[in-house]
Amino acid sequence: MNQTEIKTTIIGAGVVGLAIAAVLSETETDIFVIEKNDTYGMETSSRNSEVIHAGIYYPKDTLKARLCVEGNRRLYDWCKKKRINHLTCGKMIVATCAEEEEKLNSIRTNAMNNGVANLSFLTSRAIKKLEPDVNAVSALFSPLTGVIDSHQFMQSLYKNAKQNKVQFIFGTRVKGIEAICPGMYKIHVLYPDGEPDSFITRRVINCAGHGADEIASQMGIDIDEKDYRQYFWKGEYFGVETHPFPVKHLIYPVPLANTTGLGVHATIDIRGKLKLGPDATFLDTSPIEYSVNADKRDQFFESVKKFLPFIQKESLYPEMAGVRPKRQKPGDPVKDFMINEESDKGLPGIVNLIGIESPGLTSSLAIADHVVQLIRARRY
Ligand SMILES: Cc1cc2nc3c(=O)[nH]c(=O)nc-3n(C[C@H](O)[C@H](O)[C@H](O)COP(=O)(O)OP(=O)(O)OC[C@H]3O[C@@H](n4cnc5c(N)ncnc54)[C@H](O)[C@@H]3O)c2cc1C
Repeated sequence: MNQTEIKTTIIGAGVVGLAIAAVLSETETDIFVIEKNDTYGMETSSRNSEVIHAGIYYPKDTLKARLCVEGNRRLYDWCKKKRINHLTCGKMIVATCAEEEEKLNSIRTNAMNNGVANLSFLTSRAIKKLEPDVNAVSALFSPLTGVIDSHQFMQSLYKNAKQNKVQFIFGTRVKGIEAICPGMYKIHVLYPDGEPDSFITRRVINCAGHGADEIASQMGIDIDEKDYRQYFWKGEYFGVETHPFPVKHLIYPVPLANTTGLGVHATIDIRGKLKLGPDATFLDTSPIEYSVNADKRDQFFESVKKFLPFIQKESLYPEMAGVRPKRQKPGDPVKDFMINEESDKGLPGIVNLIGIESPGLTSSLAIADHVVQLIRARRY
């Protein structure tokens, strides 16, 4: 690297790093993004459902709830302004029995407490009108849930950041972070040819996804004591061979209590292609990998056949997988995003973003605003 002192270093060019780079560079210069892969968005940000969530399920007053509701609005505005392909298709959470119907009430109350607007209940007749092939006794309808072309979105963030003179260093892995004095850090990196290098920076924004807890640990933070350790949960998807738009809305079951996902559901992408998933499997010691277990076909079929009776088991095929970096391991309660400016740990100017799982894509622009506020409050 030619420059030896940099104002702001962003680690990771997933959708969150890109959004922070795009938003911060509207008002500041001297920003570098270090990414270990050859280009942006090659990990979790390109292995997800591409759903623009409304903020329905997250506990009130959590970062997930607040940043999702705000992120939903920010994302639709961005899509309109930058002409990003998206569909405001709406989502139905469908109840197939009386017990599930009762749960819809508490889901609605929770969503309204989070500030989610325009939710309504649908009777089975109304459902049949909107989705003739879906089987349900009633549903909660969220008109502000949608889908986005996440690749086009990331491309627009990247373009914006580049136009604002952000410098991207691809193929370069952060290997260590040393505090020289409060507000000044030495970053050690490894280039693709194995050559090491280092530079000084005043701010570090750690949005390294699966690697974010490891980076925090390189700063000397005890990730177990501070509850920063991340656990990996794989989500697999099955595609469905069918004509485009077999359903016009996203169709979700009522989630079971304290689950690690929302239950296997049906999403369409912006081209109307239907897929089922993701499920949630804890990756214990195994390294992160993205295979899909074809033996899960029966399980996926059983999960959706009650409310999507038109799907044939034979039409399901293994499609793709993504891996969520969560702060919870099996048995733990649901945990929130952790986004901390680290002055209280003697590390002013450092922001760590830990456990940025779903709804991280939806929330990305709101996360970026939040991070910019945190670093501005420090004046470093
Ligand atoms: C199965 C699944 C479904 C999901 N569905 C949705 C959805 O429908 N809607 C939604 O809103 N959210 C969804 N999400 C969540 C969303 O995809 C993520 O929250 C979001 O992509 C996280 O972005 P990120 O930038 O934090 O992480 P990433 O995309 O993982 O980016 C982190 C980057 O950091 C880089 N990096 C890591 N370590 C280093 C290092 N040492 N040096 C340099 N670079 C490094 C990585 O290479 C990577 O590019 C889903 C997630 C999963 C797994």
